[in-house]
Order: sequence, then C-alpha cells, then structure tokens
Amino acid sequence: MEAKKTILVVEDVFINRCIVKETLKDEYEILEAENGRQALEILGKYSTEISLMLLDLITPEMDGYELLSVLREDEVYRTIPVIVMTANEGDEDEVWCLDHGASDFIRKPYNPDVARQRIRNILGMNDASSERNVLRYDKITGLLTREYFYQEVDEILNNHPDTEYDMICGDVENFSVINAQYGVEKGDELLVYIADSYRKLLGEDVICSRISADNFAVLCEHQSAYLEVLEGPKTDQLRQNAPVPDIVIKYGIYEKVDKSLQTVVIYDRARMALKKNKNNYGVKVARYDEHQSEEMVKRKMLLDSMEDALKNEEFEVYFQPKVNLETETVAGAEALVRWNHPQYGFMSPGEFIPLFETNGFIWQLDQYMEKRVCQELKKMNEQGKLMLPISVNISRRDFEVDDMVDVLCSIIEKYGIDKKYFHIEVTESVYVQNPQKVIEKIRQLRKAGFLIELDDFGEGYSSLEMLSRLPIDVLKLDRSLIQKKNLQQNQTILNFIIGLAECMGIRTVAEGVETEEQAFNLKQIGCDMAQGYYYAKPMPLKRFEEYLVSHSSGFSQKLTKKCELMKVEDHENMTYHCVIEKKKQNLLKADLRFKNEIIKMIDDTISGGLKGSLDDENYTFFFVSDALPRMLGYTYEEFMEVSSGCAAGLVYPPDLPGALKKVEEDFSKGIQYSAKYRVRKKDGSLIWVLDSGQKFVDEHGNYKINSFIAQIDN
Ligand code: C2E
Ligand code: CA
Ligand code: CA
Repeated sequence: MEAKKTILVVEDVFINRCIVKETLKDEYEILEAENGRQALEILGKYSTEISLMLLDLITPEMDGYELLSVLREDEVYRTIPVIVMTANEGDEDEVWCLDHGASDFIRKPYNPDVARQRIRNILGMNDASSERNVLRYDKITGLLTREYFYQEVDEILNNHPDTEYDMICGDVENFSVINAQYGVEKGDELLVYIADSYRKLLGEDVICSRISADNFAVLCEHQSAYLEVLEGPKTDQLRQNAPVPDIVIKYGIYEKVDKSLQTVVIYDRARMALKKNKNNYGVKVARYDEHQSEEMVKRKMLLDSMEDALKNEEFEVYFQPKVNLETETVAGAEALVRWNHPQYGFMSPGEFIPLFETNGFIWQLDQYMEKRVCQELKKMNEQGKLMLPISVNISRRDFEVDDMVDVLCSIIEKYGIDKKYFHIEVTESVYVQNPQKVIEKIRQLRKAGFLIELDDFGEGYSSLEMLSRLPIDVLKLDRSLIQKKNLQQNQTILNFIIGLAECMGIRTVAEGVETEEQAFNLKQIGCDMAQGYYYAKPMPLKRFEEYLVSHSSGFSQKLTKKCELMKVEDHENMTYHCVIEKKKQNLLKADLRFKNEIIKMIDDTISGGLKGSLDDENYTFFFVSDALPRMLGYTYEEFMEVSSGCAAGLVYPPDLPGALKKVEEDFSKGIQYSAKYRVRKKDGSLIWVLDSGQKFVDEHGNYKINSFIAQIDN
C-alpha cells in the first residue's frame, strides 16, 4: 500500500482545523499550525515530507498573505503547492494569492467533496511534474507538462526576439462539479477534447500545456482577432460537440508578453486576467492590462506602509455634519477617516479600508479614530464649546475581537468623555455574518452606555426582522434609498421604514442627501436627521468648527419656508409631475403591484402585506396582497367579507375614529400617512398594526392610496 501523503493545515480557529482534519484524515496525514510562524517552524523540520498546504488567509501573528510571500522567496518551500482558504467575498484575494504562488483557492464554508477533489487534482498534477525526468507530457491530454511548457516557452521567447507572442490561459468553469456529476472518466475525456481544440482554434504550431487540473496554457504568435476566434462560430461548434453538455470555458490573455519576465510571471498575468473575469457573466475572453499589476503593487505598498502611517499620524479625521430636520440645526457628526499618504496623496477610505478589513488592521485604525475623536471632544469640552455627539465607524471585522467592548470603553474612559457623545456606527452587514455574536456585542456596547447607529440600512442585506432583533438607537438609511430615481416607490418604502422606526422608538438619519427636494421629502415623512452633500461634505476639524459657528442658529435657507410657500397640490404636482407627463408610457409604475425588490423583501420578511385603496370615505380596496389575509388567518374571500372590502372595515371599531383622524391630518399636510390601530384576527385575538402609505395618481387621473400594513408590538 502506498504511504499516505502529508498535508499541513494552517488555520487559527480550532474548530475549523478539526473539520478539515475530519474531512481529510482517511486519505492523508495531517500536520497542524495555528499561524504562519508555526507553519514555518513545521516546514523547517518536515518540508520534504509535506505534499501540500491548506492555508487560511487570516490568522494572528503571521497571516496567510505574509506566509505566501515568504514561501515564494524560498527555493524549497515554493515547490509545495498551497491551497488558500478564505471566507472573504470578491476576487481580490484570489487574484493576489494566485499571483503569489498559490495553486488554488477554496471559499469557506467549503464543501468537503470539492475540497477533496481539488486536493487530489493538485497532488496528482504535482506527482506528474515531480517525476520530471520521465514525464514530459501530461498523462491524460498528451500536452506538455507545466515544467516542460515553461522551459519550452523560455526557449522560444529567447530564440525569437523579433516575434511578438501572447500567453492565453483557459479554464473550464465548474470543472469539479462536472467531475462530480459525470464522473472522472468523462471529466478526463473532456480534458482531452479541450486540449485538442486549442490547436484546432489557434493553429498547429501553438505550444500548449495543462498547467493544473482544468487549467490550460497556450503560447502563440500575437494575433488581434481573439474575440473572433475564441468567441466565434468555430468555438461554438466545438463547445456543442463536447463530450459534456453546456460547458463554459473562460480565457485570459496576456498579449505581446514582456520577454524580460520569467515565464511563471507571464503565465500568472494571463491567469490574473482570467480570474478577474470569473464572475463576469457572459464575458468569455478577458485581457490583462498593466493596471492590474499596478493595483497589486499599490496594495502591497499600502499594506507595507500601514503601520508606519499610524505612527506618523498620516490618518486624518474628517467630520460630516448631521442635521436635525425638525429644528434645522447641526445635531452631530460622523467621523470619517482619510489617509494622507506620502506617495499616493489623499486617499478615500474605499481605497484602503477593504484591504485593512482583510488583514485585520482595521481594528488598529478604528481604535486610533476613536482616540482622535475623544481628543477632539475633550478639547471642545475644555474650551466650553458646544458638545455634539460624534459617531465613529466600527468595522464588522472588529466584532471578531474578543475584548472589543472593553477596549472601546477604556479609551473613552481614559479621556473622561460621557459616552452619550460617542455613537458607534455598525454596518448592517455585520448582522448577516454571525447574528448571535453580534447581537450580544451590541448589547454589551449599549449596556456600557454607547449609542448604536445601524449603518447602510437598505443597502442590500436589510431585513426588517433584523430591526426587531438588533438593539439599536439610530437607523441610518442608506443613500441608495434616498437617491433612487424612482422616488415615488421609495417614498412609500421610506415612509414605512420611518414609521416602523418611530413605533420602535428608533431615530432615523438619512444618508447621502444631495438635493433640497430630498431633504424636503424626508422632513415630510418624519425622518429625524439628514447627512449629505446638500448640507456639507466631510471636512477637517478646523473647517468643521467654523461650520458649527456659522450654522449655530440653523440654516439660512429653511426647508420650512418652502413648505409654507407650497400648497399641498403644488407638492403633489412636484412629486408626480413626471408621472403625469409620462401618462401614456407607464403610469401605473406607482402602483405597488409592480413591486420592486425592497418592497418584495418587506412583504416576504415581515408579518404583513400590501393594500391599495381608493381615496374615498371608507378607503375601498382595489387590491390586497395575499400576505395580508394570511397575517390575520383568513382566506382572501373571508378577508374581503369581514372587512367589507375597505380599509375602514379592517380597523377594530373603537380605534377607527382615531385612525381616520390621523390619516386625514396627515393627508392635510402631504401625501403620506401612517396610523397605528388594532385589528381582529380570525381566532378572535387583537393585534396592533402599523398602516402607512401614500397617494398616487392612476391612469384616469384619480387619486389612489398604496400602503403597507404590518404587525407591530403595540
Ligand atoms: P459610510 O459609513 O456609509 O460613510 C458615508 C460615506 O458617504 C462617506 O464616504 C461620505 O463621504 C459619503 N457621503 C456623504 N454624503 C454624501 C452625499 O451626499 N453623496 C454621496 N454620493 N456620498 C456622500 P467616505 O468618507 O469615502 O467613506 C466610505 C466608507 O468607508 C464609509 O461609508 C465607511 O463604511 C468607511 N469608513 C470611513 N471611515 C471609517 C473608519 O474610520 N473606520 C471604518 N471601519 N470604516 C470607515
Ligand atoms: Ca458610517
Ligand atoms: Ca453609511
């Protein structure tokens, strides 16, 4: 029997190591390391025995990025294939790792079958190349093996200095799935077929290799018409005749290769183009461009200089005011980081925060920001200036830090700041990752006295269920909700969300307010605060202090003025102007039956539904979504009968006068309303609901009303 091969697993989380071990222990010997440093120690002793390494990117001490860089520099270590494991979304890591010598990439939570298959593929491939003296050609496809391919490419490039060459790499999408679905034999047959097709497509004298499992590389003389070849009819036909149906092959091309580069690097560049294009549906051919490696270089530079930058105070705090829409005075500010980099100049957080989130440095930066804000608050306090609450952003990565709450508390306490002046913004996406842990940490933060703002609500992950489970003080509505072109539909959603927040005692801030119209609308529907370029862009401290002084008595251009000047009809005309103009096109866009994604989400995730009614005395229904009767335990027919087909008939009679009064009052001020009342369910129990909506004009020019109705706790 053949001896088991040894795999080194580098992973800091004990339970993850156990899972990997459990998956692989029957086939392989497993060595374990908790971080890069331990991995190097083990390599020092056993490097010749280790056949493959499984590497978690994010570990304490020496992380995967650093370890890969070290391995690459070492003659022996770099021959050990590495499969990187990561939980990060996006292709950036993948590109970086492949560029730094990793052989493959597995996303967590990973599928054990896929992992096993990939390991087998790589080990199989590696065997082939280690029997270097015997094997010039790949056993399955008969193409050159990787080592010989590189050698041959080297020779060709050297011997033909005047000819321009291109490196192409191709990759069968979901090859492991194909293997699993059709069996390895069929998979092999497909590989042979693909290998043959390269010559058919690109000419007989191209040099081809199967670099690894389903990765092919081709060197050919430069031609500009790749799109015609690789996306043309000949390719289509080859695809149709393939032994496995519906295969997709993606290509990455590095054109007119730089002959001074090592062949490995030349191949990597073609591969980078391919990887970048991986999730690009429908695009089969992607070209490498110099920016890609410039980007990599920049990333590397930023990572190398981040620690010094912190010491040298290159990170600066900018402040963006939040304005109270009711009083129209500055109500607080958000602290936003800027990096004044000696080489790259002024950088926005979008350029470096994602990087710092991958390697965990964000926690250092967020603590630094907290300290800086405390220093400023302390100064304001000492100078007897107006104290305003300032919010700082805490990354979702920070939630992985065990003593995060203690650390944040001790910073504030050191400066003697009252925690009510210190808000913490947490992006809504934290919740998705590990709800239980996040809820617990947020609870602790609140218990310690911090106010919590839920950032980016409505950006993508939102569910209203999250609102009821996360203990928060302020809801920040993402700018995508504020700025959407389709104001009309969004107003209804915003109105609903704001109404719901109000019922739950949560204050609301609208982000990304850029126009007077947006501010006006938000004020109308009862949003508490606004933040955005309409008021001010983020600015350095000195300017922010001047801003506070010059706006201490509010804003010269009052939104209320506009409100007084405008009659209700004017406002309606303003909002619906475009709809009436486009009457002939698709006037019923305002009709909630044409639900957009967010509305659908609301409908799906909460106990509640949609209704549309006429603007008559009893608000007669013209449609009712199925979810509404369901919420109350009725069939549609029963519901229509007990409610007499109108909204007024739905309300628990003692609550009806109050509800009607509230709706009339709201409609006398604008086009939105919201009301709370009780409704009787089929089982006889009473529940509280929030009913909120707005008027629109139908195709005949008549007013109608769309609303959400959802169960609330009193
Ligand atoms: P965010 O927390 O959603 O911050 C608001 C972003 O929107 C800021 O971008 C701000 O400049 C921008 N913005 C404000 N008003 C408007 C407007 O009217 N229109 C438009 N189009 N944009 C507006 P910025 O400063 O580039 O920050 C980007 C993101 O970086 C922030 O998004 C936040 O997630 C993150 N970030 C910034 N500073 C920190 C920090 O110290 N720590 C952490 N963890 N993340 C930070
Ligand atoms: Ca924020
Ligand atoms: Ca935000």
